[in-house]
Amino acid sequence: MKRHLDFAVLVDYWFGDREDDALEEHLFACTACSARLEELVALGAGIRDALRSGALRAVLPREFVERLKSEGLRLREYRVAPGGSVNCTLTGEDDFVVSRLQAPLAGVERLDLVYVGPDGEAQATFEDIPFDAAAGEVLVLPSAAAVRAMPAHTFRMRLVAVGAQGAKPLGDYTFIHTPG
Ligand SMILES: [Zn+2]
Repeated sequence: MKRHLDFAVLVDYWFGDREDDALEEHLFACTACSARLEELVALGAGIRDALRSGALRAVLPREFVERLKSEGLRLREYRVAPGGSVNCTLTGEDDFVVSRLQAPLAGVERLDLVYVGPDGEAQATFEDIPFDAAAGEVLVLPSAAAVRAMPAHTFRMRLVAVGAQGAKPLGDYTFIHTPG
């Protein structure tokens, strides 16, 4: 048996970024690595495929992100307040980048996340995303491979609370991205 798979490789595989025969053969043969993958699958359960695709890639529960940290993965974190902006990048030192969108979430029933492109147009809406109301934040963990492929550009994420009274924007979060 060759050495076990890196946890970062398992996460990429979970994201659907990585598919190769050697990796799948290892998973098939190795109960330790397949158990670790199962754990990721369980932590990410309830995350619909729509939240794992496109530019945003993933909105994840806190436990998932904590698990990455506990495996020693290097996470570059950006905490952004409503209406705030941040210069962001992903360097060779980082395994992943996680955006922590701060928002007043107490009492929010359903939360949508809108991806707003460089020209201010809503490019995609992700409905009913997971969030931690008590923590007052939404964790967005894009695929590292997707981020590394991005050119310098500016985009926004918008959180919208949806309830009986309709849709209420909670904040826009601007990311000024430069390649690492
Ligand atoms: Zn293994």
